[in-house]
Amino acid sequence: MPPVLTESPVPMTLTDEIKTLNDAHVINTYGARSIALSRGDGMRLWDAEGKEYLDFFAGIAVCNLGHGHPAVTKAICDQAQKLVHVSNLYYIEAQTLLAALLCKHSFADKWFFCNGGAEANEAAIKLARRYWDKQGTPKPGIVTAQQSFHGRTIATITATGQPKYHDGFQPLVPGFSYVPFDDIAALEAAITPDVGAVMLEPIQGEGGVRIPGADYWKQVRQLCDDRNVLLILDEVQTGLGRTGPLFAHQGDGIIPDIMTLAKGLGNGVPIGAMGCTDAVATGFDIGSHACTFGGNPLSSAAAVATMNVLTAPDFLDEAVANGAYLFEQLAEIAKHCDSLVEVRGKGLMVGIEFDKPVAPLVHSLIEAGVICGPAGPNVLRFLPPLIVEKEHIDRVVSLLKTCLGDLKW
Ligand SMILES: *Cc1c(COP(=O)(O)O)cnc(C)c1O
Repeated sequence: MPPVLTESPVPMTLTDEIKTLNDAHVINTYGARSIALSRGDGMRLWDAEGKEYLDFFAGIAVCNLGHGHPAVTKAICDQAQKLVHVSNLYYIEAQTLLAALLCKHSFADKWFFCNGGAEANEAAIKLARRYWDKQGTPKPGIVTAQQSFHGRTIATITATGQPKYHDGFQPLVPGFSYVPFDDIAALEAAITPDVGAVMLEPIQGEGGVRIPGADYWKQVRQLCDDRNVLLILDEVQTGLGRTGPLFAHQGDGIIPDIMTLAKGLGNGVPIGAMGCTDAVATGFDIGSHACTFGGNPLSSAAAVATMNVLTAPDFLDEAVANGAYLFEQLAEIAKHCDSLVEVRGKGLMVGIEFDKPVAPLVHSLIEAGVICGPAGPNVLRFLPPLIVEKEHIDRVVSLLKTCLGDLKW
């Protein structure tokens, strides 16, 4: 492709053009990247040079229905022609439909809409604090887990139990404390009288695809009931079918008081949501919270279409079956790869831990045509769209074997 963006005297690829212009004008918070993706269709992506890739990352668990899903594309186009945005000073039909659909398929009775995961968690934090304040028993403390990830605003980096996200941003928000994940005794000890909520991910995503033991969730729920604190589940990454059920906690046999969603909800159109029980929703009054774009016609229409596909009969069953097939294939690889420590995950949320940093492996997989990413330094993460089929899995597994061989792992 001819250069189109800069006036460089030397011929450059479009990718290099983008890179040069990006590095000159975009704040460098993401580091150097090797490719620019410009087109997608289902499981496939193409870069600016026309090279094809199999997508095993879904934009970090966002495009759960793959790229350009016809039902979502149609909903976006139809809504864009009708009405893109109005404020929440008026009723919004698509937002109302979305809330009703989310209620039908979850424990939640009421929803609040925003733009993404961090904002959904901000809403949850504010709701928990205001709920206890209104009850006349203020307890602003919130316990979260070490190695957790809850977003990048000041409150949500505070909630995030990883010091690297706090560095240089102090003072953080008061009232947060941290416990080891999957340690019920530590959680019990951390729930002091000023604690009003516990906030956890069903499976820690950014923290390395970490799954707690079988009894953990029932014990957490029981503990929260016994000590009268709210349980907030951050399902921003695990929700919308990623781990098998529509929401991960449905597979753990518990019900939270508050749940947050974002990533997969609009299949790529930015939207976040916080759902809760009727009782907890009383913590917010008119004027307590708001969001200009929250649940606007365009993002809500995309989310309604996404929910309709995800909840269609057999859709998630098929994803679960293909997830099981992927785990079988990875278990085979584990037998023959000395550097591989553990394969873990649920549904189509997969972490593969190695005994060394995975950056070279991620690089070599992308070179080979597989889009994937890390989850912490030593964990390779696969988050394929839920429409993945056996042939895609076979191809990725074969390319993974080749890359591991090339790296002599
Ligand atoms: C991605 C993520 C967030 C943050 O979502 P943003 O949309 O980037 O603000 C919060 N919690 C979890 C579990 C996530 O995976």
